[in-house]
Amino acid sequence: MDRRNFLKGAALSAMAIAAPISFSAFGEPTKQTGRSGRLNLTFFPYELQLRHAFNLAKYSRTTTPDVQVRIEYDGIVGYGEASMPPYLGESVESVTKFLSALDLSQFTDPFRIEEIHEYMDSVAPNNRAAKASVDIALHDLLGKIMGQPWYKIWGLDPGKAPSTSFTIGIDKADVVRQKVDEADPYNVLKVKMGLDNDKELVEIIRSKTDRPICVDANQGWSDKEKALEMCHWLSERNCLFVEQPMPKEMIEETAWLRERSPLPIIADEFLQRLPDVRRAAEAYDGINIKLMKSTGMHEAYQMAVLARALGMKVMLGCMTETSCAVTAAAQLAPMVDWADLDGNLLIANDLFDGIKIVNGKVTIPERPGIGVEPLA
Ligand code: MG
Repeated sequence: MDRRNFLKGAALSAMAIAAPISFSAFGEPTKQTGRSGRLNLTFFPYELQLRHAFNLAKYSRTTTPDVQVRIEYDGIVGYGEASMPPYLGESVESVTKFLSALDLSQFTDPFRIEEIHEYMDSVAPNNRAAKASVDIALHDLLGKIMGQPWYKIWGLDPGKAPSTSFTIGIDKADVVRQKVDEADPYNVLKVKMGLDNDKELVEIIRSKTDRPICVDANQGWSDKEKALEMCHWLSERNCLFVEQPMPKEMIEETAWLRERSPLPIIADEFLQRLPDVRRAAEAYDGINIKLMKSTGMHEAYQMAVLARALGMKVMLGCMTETSCAVTAAAQLAPMVDWADLDGNLLIANDLFDGIKIVNGKVTIPERPGIGVEPLA
């Protein structure tokens, strides 16, 4: 062997020894191949089919528009997702436009998540679901590189994850009874309110079960005296809390209600991102964090920490989503008082295996990253 070939051989063996162990998309340790050293973003639209028509105080629907995201780095794939229920103002078009405008290939280090968020905020101020899809895929990627799930990286005990509520939508009496039967595996029922038959709906549920309920009025009560009367009535019927009782603009009236209500008042539509938490503290007892509002896991974690520091209750929610985004949210579940993580159970065409509900409790998978595997 001449000197040139010897040096080449030595360099190659040194590279083989130094080659870091990474994890495949499925969490299996693999030798890295095809190192690109760049973040490669791809995405495609995916329409979620709902099992039941989704009836809220203001509208009804049977599908949810969604965009699935992949970020590849050095042969490892991170999965992410944007779900766009119409009232949030995002669409397949707006998400696709935002993602197309991103140039993630400028980032050679996927751990610079703070910088990547600053960059996304500089591209457009809103587009929160689109940003969440990138954030979730990045967290999945980083967790796989580190070989750990995010609850571990955050130092959380998965045994502290609460039960999830299961939503009973507004519907005809016989359908509500059937939904209560279907909700048998769940320890807490979430009741959507804000129409004229609110009490009737609770009476139907109470004729079937005495399990605790939580109530989401979706801004449906615009009279503060009526809202207070409902809070008293619900507190006598094993209700845990009331979410967004009044329109988000009625801050003074909500603060008035919070002073008098026997039940905690939780903000949902009122808040989106981190700076909103301090404003919420002035009128609400707690906040409902959702990844599609918070721009993903990075800011959702900060919101939970800040809310705790302000002495507030924390609830973790989701949209109708595949198990991708719901399992990503579940990584935060040990930090919260109440979880409402049933979005994947409400759709008929999931793409991932992930979060499980065991004895009614949120159970986080033992997998690196956000904890999902694509279904075959
Ligand atoms: Mg809500």
